[in-house]
Amino acid sequence: MTAQLIDGKAIAKKVRAEVKLRAAEFAAAHGRKPGLEVVLVGNDAASQVYVRNKERASEKVGIRGAVHRLPADASQAAVVELVEQLNARDDVDGILVQLPLPGHIDANAVIDRIDAAKDVDGLGPQNAGKLVLGRPGHRPCTPHGCMRLLDEIGCDPKGLSAVVVGRSNLVGKPIAHLLLQRHATVTLAHSRTRDLGAVVSGADIVVAAVGVRALVRGEWIKPGAVVLDVGINRADDGKLYGDVEFEAACERAAHITPVPGGVGPMTIAMLLSNTVDAAYRRVG
Ligand code: NAD
Repeated sequence: MTAQLIDGKAIAKKVRAEVKLRAAEFAAAHGRKPGLEVVLVGNDAASQVYVRNKERASEKVGIRGAVHRLPADASQAAVVELVEQLNARDDVDGILVQLPLPGHIDANAVIDRIDAAKDVDGLGPQNAGKLVLGRPGHRPCTPHGCMRLLDEIGCDPKGLSAVVVGRSNLVGKPIAHLLLQRHATVTLAHSRTRDLGAVVSGADIVVAAVGVRALVRGEWIKPGAVVLDVGINRADDGKLYGDVEFEAACERAAHITPVPGGVGPMTIAMLLSNTVDAAYRRVG
């Protein structure tokens, strides 16, 4: 079998087109655009690129926004104060604090202060709790994007065996809950999992979110499985690679996301989608 590639770029484009339409409808009905404010602390190079991309993407779909840049030595109190100011503004529907924050700032202490209705990254305790309880709320963008990819290829997780490798709060845990909500039988594997190969080889859906190139071996993939590779690893050759041994996995999987161009483009698209959702929820 040669796997069909899941075209994350094309699917993200489709999501952005939907968002653009909904953002325009919102603006027409409420006299203002949905608003997304991004807080960036310090000079982390990757974060600067992400934030710039978010800024551009927002503009293109008709979401108003600003990036608030604070110096690397900004105090935790200053970051919290900014978050509180944004919480209080009526024209702000979404607040995103770009991670990682500098070491002297407790990221949880900042995220905990974001109004749950504006927590479009879905990382705060209220939205995370709602996800676990299966109640409506903002879902973290990358996991949300993964679910959309499954929907787009017509993969219904109901009754399927899903293995998620990686248990971060950002990706692994939320995607495991989203799959569970859609009635998959979910195994959450991590760095202490024994015999990862045996665990992965039973999976109809494999999600790899670790950050180790080719950790998931092609020979582990069950023939006909769907493979979502969240990993982004820059190698010495300057190219990006996923967490899955791509070519070998292609021989066995039915569908697989390439890296780059698979899961990656979905993250910003889902952030924009969450922002428009937040805008509509806030106006009731
Ligand atoms: P993280 O470092 O927070 O978590 C990694 C997880 O992998 C941990 O839960 C750990 O237990 C697990 N792990 C580590 N070594 C392992 C091993 N040998 N076997 C099994 N599990 C192991 O990382 P994260 O934030 O969840 O990100 C994971 C990857 O996804 C990274 O490459 C990151 O760059 C990428 N990522 C991509 C996007 C996107 O938009 N595509 C978004 C977020 C993260």
